[in-house]
Amino acid sequence: MSRTVIHGGLVVTASDEIHADVLIEGGRIAALAAHGTDAATSWSADRRIDATGMYVLPGGVDAHTHMKMPFGGTYAADTFETGTRAAAWGGTTTIVDFAIQTMGRSLREGLDTWHAKADGRCAVDYGFHMILSDVNESSLKEMDRLVAEGVTSFKLFMAYPGVFYSDDGRILRAMQRASGNGGLVMMHAENGIAIDVLVEQALAEGRTDPRYHGDVRKVALEAEATHRAVQLARVAGAPLYVVHVSADEAVDEIAAARHKGLPVFGETCPQYLFLSTDNLAEPGFEGAKYVCSTPLRPREHQEVLWRGLRNNELQVVSTDHCPFCFSGQKEMGRGDFSKIPNGMPGVEHRMDLLHQAVVDGHLSRRRWVEIACASPARMFGLYPKKGTIAPGADADVVIYDPGAEQTISAETHHMAVDYSAYEGRRVTGQVRTVLSRGVPVIEDRAYVGHAGHGTYLPRGTCQYL
Ligand SMILES: [Zn+2]
Repeated sequence: MSRTVIHGGLVVTASDEIHADVLIEGGRIAALAAHGTDAATSWSADRRIDATGMYVLPGGVDAHTHMKMPFGGTYAADTFETGTRAAAWGGTTTIVDFAIQTMGRSLREGLDTWHAKADGRCAVDYGFHMILSDVNESSLKEMDRLVAEGVTSFKLFMAYPGVFYSDDGRILRAMQRASGNGGLVMMHAENGIAIDVLVEQALAEGRTDPRYHGDVRKVALEAEATHRAVQLARVAGAPLYVVHVSADEAVDEIAAARHKGLPVFGETCPQYLFLSTDNLAEPGFEGAKYVCSTPLRPREHQEVLWRGLRNNELQVVSTDHCPFCFSGQKEMGRGDFSKIPNGMPGVEHRMDLLHQAVVDGHLSRRRWVEIACASPARMFGLYPKKGTIAPGADADVVIYDPGAEQTISAETHHMAVDYSAYEGRRVTGQVRTVLSRGVPVIEDRAYVGHAGHGTYLPRGTCQYL
């Protein structure tokens, strides 16, 4: 069995910060031992990695990505190959992507399609959630089978009428089914029916620029949908995970539900923590780069999101990585913001941006690891295989240089998209080396991985309840 020792680093997990060496055997963490002890110095190894002055972190778990996702007549620009490679560059060693049920088709067909997109192409490990577009008797039955085989979370949409939208009755039925089979319902909580009216009115009045995308997708309509989703989940007796929470009032709804003891969870994304409607209002058509849903909010919302992350009102930071090139894709919406493909690149920079939040004093180091690694793994049934550094866990390990300075740019990033949402932003901290199940994927800032190393992860049910 091949053995690797990582020595001299500070091991940071969601629960501890330990000056320890780490022994990896055959792709899993075998042991931790204090620096300089007989135990640590007696380990023989095929490979030794010097982590002096570095953090030794569990690999990041990004529970919300959309590789090669079809949207509005085009596809998200990253494939599973390019997207998982970029993830590895940024210290993320597990993604959970969304397989999509096409209207009128089975869940199985959708899942098979996503397996075919990913199989043999990923640089790091991956699992799937299932998007329910068509809740009916047979898709409800299929949910049980999917949970049993490791697709244990189901996303529904209160937005996008005519595409992914489910009405309250369908949502309630799916939640009732989930409450019986252990599945976790994930909700895109925006009132899409009302938003479509405002879109139509804005366009009719000549308000067509990207910034109106943020304008029509009102805070009240995110908060209202979040409230409704909570109540439906409560009636169904099901847990609820609200994706990409961006508005302060939506955080309030989740906090209120949790205060009542309801199993309601919330996720936010770096774009809501670091960007705002100021970006959507950038001159010319630049704002299109920042069009995603839920939309970016005015800057004041950021402090509420940070507070929510500190208080555990929000448990997870994912990226909702869904990149569309500015040239040729975002441009489809020139003169009509509603035709701008919704989504932003981000899978590569989540760990770094959240480390910057540690530097800036928004989060502790352990909370950084918790919201980016441990909690997503727990939430989606991957813990402790993923999300921590402990004996028995997969050796998904990031050697992180907390003092390195870098400037985020499309010139240097590895995502297959022609712009960066954080162009020119300087951040402190950078990934040095990444192991996936003990195998180097990034070594001293060089990519040494390969497509097909990443394997599919059947998941257990939510462990956060
Ligand atoms: Zn998404």
